[in-house]
Amino acid sequence: MNEILQKLVMLQDLDCMIDEIKNKDVKKVQKKMGLEIKGDEKLEEAKKVLERAIPPKVLSRYHKLMERFGRAVAPVVGNSCMCCFVTVPKRLTIREFANRELRNCERCGRFLYWV
Ligand SMILES: [Zn+2]
Repeated sequence: MNEILQKLVMLQDLDCMIDEIKNKDVKKVQKKMGLEIKGDEKLEEAKKVLERAIPPKVLSRYHKLMERFGRAVAPVVGNSCMCCFVTVPKRLTIREFANRELRNCERCGRFLYWV
């Protein structure tokens, strides 16, 4: 898989985890269950390291997409972007080749990866 694409997938995962931890309802439930998680700072630190390894232009696009949709990277299953369900042109859908380059969905603009 393209190195930057891989980092974007990881970054999105970290962002989701940070959001979950910051969510007060989740915190309440975790406290009730005796599972208080204190990983906020470690996750934020990992996020910073990851962000430094992503080209600024790509990172800025990532942040814009996250702000707009809450998700910046979308899986392609079959021939469809799983976030907006547009059909991705067939020539792009050969998995081994598709994940080598950074591509964006023609409709929603999210970064695409093939599963
Ligand atoms: Zn899309």
